[in-house]
Amino acid sequence: MDEIEHLHQVGLKATAPRLKVLEILRHGARRHLSAEDLHRELLLGDADVGLATVYRVLGQLEQAGIVARRSFETGHAVYEIDEGRHHDHLVCVRCGRVDEFEDPAIEARQAAVAESRGFQLSEHRLALYGLCRACRPAGSAP
Ligand SMILES: [Zn+2]
Ligand SMILES: [Zn+2]
Repeated sequence: MDEIEHLHQVGLKATAPRLKVLEILRHGARRHLSAEDLHRELLLGDADVGLATVYRVLGQLEQAGIVARRSFETGHAVYEIDEGRHHDHLVCVRCGRVDEFEDPAIEARQAAVAESRGFQLSEHRLALYGLCRACRPAGSAP
């Protein structure tokens, strides 16, 4: 299904800002972007869209279940295409970069901890905070 049909299906018109935001989130170099990141990308692509519009579009796409908003302790939120696939995040406390990972051993341990305490697990969110490769001081241990 193409993006235009997808938007129609959730009751949204396929406006240029909506299509461009989705294009960047789906096909850009990074899957997790803040509203400011998206705004910058749109300007680089010559789209004349204000930051307020970016926020409004993201809110609409989130409500429609196409985009998921993730907020972290660093106080900023990023958006990603909601593929309904569980994953956890690595968050850079300096530049705000967010990457994702999934580790079967961590997943299994969490399930085991919950079970051993008679706790019925419904979901979990795990975020690792630190410095990304680009922000680490040069020469620090790998
Ligand atoms: Zn960083
Ligand atoms: Zn993610």
